[in-house]
Amino acid sequence: MHRFFYAALVVCITAVFARPAHAQSRTAATLTFAVDEEAQAREQLQRLLSEYDLDPWIVTTRIRIAAGEIPHSHPILTLNTKYLDDDLRQLATFLHEQMHWYESADAREAAVDRAIEDLRQRYPNPPDHEAIGTRSAYSTYLHLMVNGLTFDALRHLLGEAEARTLTNENPIYRWVNQRVLDDTEAIRAILDAHGLIIDPGAE
Ligand SMILES: [Zn+2]
Repeated sequence: MHRFFYAALVVCITAVFARPAHAQSRTAATLTFAVDEEAQAREQLQRLLSEYDLDPWIVTTRIRIAAGEIPHSHPILTLNTKYLDDDLRQLATFLHEQMHWYESADAREAAVDRAIEDLRQRYPNPPDHEAIGTRSAYSTYLHLMVNGLTFDALRHLLGEAEARTLTNENPIYRWVNQRVLDDTEAIRAILDAHGLIIDPGAE
């Protein structure tokens, strides 16, 4: 059903921009291309949702696909079309943004604060946030949590080896991800101590 809707949307937009008929503008061609890629990304996400049981890690069900935007979690979880040929990278990105929704739930605020305090004690001197691609020192600690939870999810879904390869090859958050890979159990124990581990067996 969705596929037909978006196919119709592509046709509709092309028709509007293709007039007058003497030349299709560059804008029309670019826009059609972007809309088409966004449709493909929607199909990719639907495929991932049917291939993997992602329910334990889905916190928000409102998802946008926007070509050219940097993936982000709020106010609406947004993915882009960069990984049309890389299902696992898109899966990891989707899980990462879902884990931001997970940690930002009001009910978890106190637990998250306490876990971040523990992470601060374990890593008292992280590199300058600008050098490692986080927005602030707080964001560095928050990403130790988010990326730790994402890695835990990937491990459940793909197995240890694939999860490690995927995390290691992620060009973003390298310092954070190295901590997650080197100190997997220590970070997991901190999250577990504050009830933040997601157990996919529990419903
Ligand atoms: Zn993030």
